[in-house]
Amino acid sequence: MSTDDRSLGTPIMRGLRSRCPGCGEGRLFQGFLTLRPSCERCGLDYSFADAADGPAVFVIMISGFIVVFAALAVEFAYQPPYWVHAALWLAADRAHHAWAAAADQGRDDCAAVSSQGRRGRLSRGE
Ligand SMILES: [Zn+2]
Repeated sequence: MSTDDRSLGTPIMRGLRSRCPGCGEGRLFQGFLTLRPSCERCGLDYSFADAADGPAVFVIMISGFIVVFAALAVEFAYQPPYWVHAALWLAADRAHHAWAAAADQGRDDCAAVSSQGRRGRLSRGE
């Protein structure tokens, strides 16, 4: 499949797997959240597709709500000692943020590549 494929599902699925939106095989990131300059397989330039920190902040806010809700539910149901909360929720919070931020960053970067870096515009019917 090529970068000319304009369907939205393909780049989202490739982004969730942290793979190149063009070929679906090359890795999207070097390290953990750093976008590679280009695809190692097909050479697609990723420079115009960096979504910056926006997706990560959005996901962290949602996952924070989920973790806090779960912590309150456990407290009301079982009332464990505080050290259990500290061990359980800090680890769950860090792990969930890391995974969710990477997945969302990849999805947004792939969506940007799919739209070829164009910003959204309102059509005036021209
Ligand atoms: Zn590629």
